[in-house]
Amino acid sequence: MTGKPAPCTVYATDLHPGGRFEAAGHWLRRHQRLIRLLQWGVVAVYATLLVVPSVLPLPGETARIWNDVTVFAQFVFWGIWWPGVLISMLVFGRLWCGVLCPEGALSEFASRNGRGGAIPRWVRWPGWPFLAFVLTTVYGQMVSVYQYPKPALLILGGSTLAAMAIGYLYGREKRVWCRYLCPVNGVFGLLAKLAPMHYAVDRTAWEGNARRADLLQGYTCAPLVPVKNMQSASPCHMCGRCSGFRAAVRLEPRAPNHEVVEVSGRTATRWDSLLIIVGLIGVAGGAFQWASSPWFVDLKQAAATWLVERGIFWPLDTSLPWWMLTNYAAQSDVMTLLDGAMLLAYIGAVTVGLSVAVGLPLALATRLCGPWHWQRFHHLAHALIPVAACGVILGLSAQTVTLLHQSGIDFAWIQPARALALAGAALWSVWLAGRIVARTCRGGRAMAATASFLLSLVAPVTGWVLLFWLW
Ligand code: SF4
Repeated sequence: MTGKPAPCTVYATDLHPGGRFEAAGHWLRRHQRLIRLLQWGVVAVYATLLVVPSVLPLPGETARIWNDVTVFAQFVFWGIWWPGVLISMLVFGRLWCGVLCPEGALSEFASRNGRGGAIPRWVRWPGWPFLAFVLTTVYGQMVSVYQYPKPALLILGGSTLAAMAIGYLYGREKRVWCRYLCPVNGVFGLLAKLAPMHYAVDRTAWEGNARRADLLQGYTCAPLVPVKNMQSASPCHMCGRCSGFRAAVRLEPRAPNHEVVEVSGRTATRWDSLLIIVGLIGVAGGAFQWASSPWFVDLKQAAATWLVERGIFWPLDTSLPWWMLTNYAAQSDVMTLLDGAMLLAYIGAVTVGLSVAVGLPLALATRLCGPWHWQRFHHLAHALIPVAACGVILGLSAQTVTLLHQSGIDFAWIQPARALALAGAALWSVWLAGRIVARTCRGGRAMAATASFLLSLVAPVTGWVLLFWLW
């Protein structure tokens, strides 16, 4: 749906505003110019934090957040920006995407001035959110993206250039990149399902008010959401442009459990299950823990001994350029081919182990509810979102804690806070699973299915306990 309302259009919903949420949605719609200005401001900050550290010498041992640009940028990016964006998804839905994301803004800008081509089929492939997340996560670990500015520039800057190129080539005033290809699109979409607000659509009003000249009859939805049939908050960037359309679309509060329990039974897909179980719990779990894992050290030691005993030394001596594998000799931080291979093997093994440990009890829970049904499995997988989200947020915030610790700032409450977050997320997941199970079975079967779901949480929670308390 595209087109602009006439400048003199009066919106019925403006004259009779609903609650504060509805008014906030309308405010966003009316202040798109201000939002664009804000977006350019974020683009400027983003570019500065990304480019400046990459042209400066690497920080020395005395560098701290407050006296070194590179450490400061590291802290802002990985310590505040990313965990903050993830938490914002749980609170405001994808408001970040629609209002502040520099990449989305640049992609839409390129699309507004681009070729406006049709979107090819390969772009629409539904597996991109999963594949792009996995590849970016693993590659980030190989090049130490959290530690050094050049890999950050390469990954984040490369992603931004790709977003602009896709915007230039496809769609008109659209965010084709954000809708289909952004590496965090899938993750943001999953987290937004738990947000306590969404744009609700009244289809009766949508049809009935089609000819009302006094109502908003046009808008541009940049992330290509089919608004009339929108059931999920996942694809919506909360930009507010459709707010008040035909007096049928409004920002509304909702119960955080509503979408996962009531809607995901229809909307969940196998790609969601893969992203939650294999991507967020498996790959991200392995990526966050390998550097602290004594098992990784043992694995590497065993492989090195095996190679040396056979007179094979080149995997222990060979390094690659920094953009392929971490290589900072001056910092005594060089990964050899053996390190790189062990890193991939470790993340791969953790991914397989966690995926099986989560997937099997989940499958059992599905079967205990009745005859096997893949859709029920995918629905139950959505109940894992709180635990998966908590893991990623805790993993990223570990960077915040480490950087603050290196600058001499420690918080005594951090461990209890982590324990509380993990316990709360696990309880939330079990609660969601119980509500989902109750939709299809009752009594002993329901209890057994919920207990089986509970088993699926054991491995991921154990992984975080190992990382934060035992290693
Ligand atoms: S449905 Fe589209 S236009 Fe409406 S708020 Fe969401 S992103 Fe914006």
